[in-house]
Amino acid sequence: MSQWRNSLAAALATPEQLAEHFGTAPGPLQQVALRYPLRITPHYLSLIREPGDPIWRQCVPDPLELTDDQAADPLCEESLSPVPGLIHRYPDRVVWLVANECAVYCRFCMRKRQVGCGAASGTSDIAAVLAYISATPAIRDVILSGGDPLLLSDEQLEELLAGLRKIPHVEIIRIGTRVPVTLPERVTPELCSILRRFHPLYINTHFNHSQEITPESTRACGLLADAGIQLGNQTVLLKGVNDTPQVMKTLMTGLLKIRVRPYYIHQMDLVNGTGHFRTTVDCGIDIIGAIRGHISGLATPYYVIDLAGGKGKVPLLPEDVRREGDKLLLKNYMGEIVEYRNPLIT
Ligand SMILES: *Cc1c(COP(=O)(O)O)cnc(C)c1O
Ligand code: SF4
Repeated sequence: MSQWRNSLAAALATPEQLAEHFGTAPGPLQQVALRYPLRITPHYLSLIREPGDPIWRQCVPDPLELTDDQAADPLCEESLSPVPGLIHRYPDRVVWLVANECAVYCRFCMRKRQVGCGAASGTSDIAAVLAYISATPAIRDVILSGGDPLLLSDEQLEELLAGLRKIPHVEIIRIGTRVPVTLPERVTPELCSILRRFHPLYINTHFNHSQEITPESTRACGLLADAGIQLGNQTVLLKGVNDTPQVMKTLMTGLLKIRVRPYYIHQMDLVNGTGHFRTTVDCGIDIIGAIRGHISGLATPYYVIDLAGGKGKVPLLPEDVRREGDKLLLKNYMGEIVEYRNPLIT
């Protein structure tokens, strides 16, 4: 078995294992883990310095996950799906859910309803997806997502990428993956030698805190960058993890040093089971205001809200937010004004 598969096999996957590791009681977490799976790789576990720290909060289940009452799919991804496992919201780009497994199950995941919940949900019929993309010449950008696409085997990935590259109008391929952060040993020279055959290929990874920038993740990003892959980063703004300007500045400047360009900071989606991570929009605006102009422009991401109902992502700048009571009025890419209720934080 490859090293990374061994690491996955050694991951903590039950409340009992977690309790044994930390010397706590598994009791309250059992209900949570039944609903939303738990997995923490040895590498990610080693980053926890103390219970409740930013790494712990991202991966250890919390009973609050069961007390939230938001929609499971507020972005209406399922209704924007022309074939199972494909989301076609914007005219020229699609998101293809190629895997429903992740190395670590993030407690704040926007696809919490699907990810890690058995083989059937959310995955796709490869031939059907390729047929749809082939028949839709407007699609020039295909984003592989999931789950984590890099949990597929090298052979499976190669097959998907080769299938996409046969379609002339697919100009760029992107992969969204958290593996450099959570399972950096997955990034092997063999993987990179496959990926580099399918350029132009972009990878967006997902660091949320500078404690995740380690010699191992630095090595993984370096290997990918040496294969000619442009690396971006999508961070989720998370209460108790990275909701201060100083933490974000340290993260963004740290990413540039490991050859990763900050791309987006996401406002938390209104997804069921994640409410304890939500911040106000003002928190994000303060952060972006403290970053822009204060650190390198290359280290400056967009702060975006993904609007409910599949209306798309909107970048927010401090000067262009219009308010009406507790509502924000936001203009999306189609020029529509869409209301967004600033989350009430308790
Ligand atoms: C975020 C997203 C994309 C990609 O958007 P970019 O702004 O180009 O990165 C495409 N489709 C869906 C459904 C998305 O949520
Ligand atoms: S890696 Fe991404 S898809 Fe997987 S659990 Fe984390 S946020 Fe969700």
